[in-house]
Amino acid sequence: MRIDIISIFPEYFAPLDVSLIGKARERGILDVHLHQLRDWTHDVHHTVDDTPYGGGPGMVMKPDPWGEAIDDVLAADPAARPRIVVPTPSGVPFTQKLAMEYAAEPWLLFTPARYEGIDSRVMAEYGSRLRVDEVSIGDYVLAGGEVAVLVMVEAVGRLLPGVLGNARSVADDSFAPGAMENLLEGPVYTKPPRWREREVPEILLSGHHGKIARWRRDEALRRTAKNRPELLAALDPQSLDKHDRRL
Ligand code: SAM
Repeated sequence: MRIDIISIFPEYFAPLDVSLIGKARERGILDVHLHQLRDWTHDVHHTVDDTPYGGGPGMVMKPDPWGEAIDDVLAADPAARPRIVVPTPSGVPFTQKLAMEYAAEPWLLFTPARYEGIDSRVMAEYGSRLRVDEVSIGDYVLAGGEVAVLVMVEAVGRLLPGVLGNARSVADDSFAPGAMENLLEGPVYTKPPRWREREVPEILLSGHHGKIARWRRDEALRRTAKNRPELLAALDPQSLDKHDRRL
């Protein structure tokens, strides 16, 4: 997968050299291109922002550098069409489902902003010929979109074939389509079996796979009911068996 990121802080993306994503890049699974937006400015101050039309506090990112930068990135492979992802608190929620959709794309272009965001005509311009998604990573406001892009690249990158040691672990994750859709993963344990007088639940030491699977599902349902009751309410009743309903 190719990923392009245009930002006024390309150095923010140093964590993409580390751990799973760093290894995926080394192995050629992920091809990341970082771009400095200010390279597409033409004044001595490399200005990327201006005052908002209609007045009000804060500054808005100018359309000119964004347009030139995106055009140049698109020209890198005129035969291909990236999906453009614009991080913004006013976007659609970033979910595991969307991460999986992105993981199936050959090329993503992220446009993290600063200030009050990017002049909306940029999204309208590219949205008329490419897929442009305005995406939020949560109901809070960050100072800039770089961290949001790191979040999305990590969530997408770990889904790419060959990135995780054991691909099966994705299926057991919270929110994974299938048995875990709309569910949070329950508690996990490792050795030793007793730590500070606290025992690992006996069932996990039993070696009885059927009972362990049942226990994990019960715990997932309990944890979801406690931490995210709205997810539980959204569960498809057809997906619940008689043990689930008993809980
Ligand atoms: N005035 C904007 C609003 O209220 O929607 C907030 C702008 S914020 C200070 C600057 C930039 O940070 C945004 O344009 C976006 O790129 C990024 N950002 C902030 N919060 C975000 C979130 N929850 N999800 C994704 N990106 C976010």
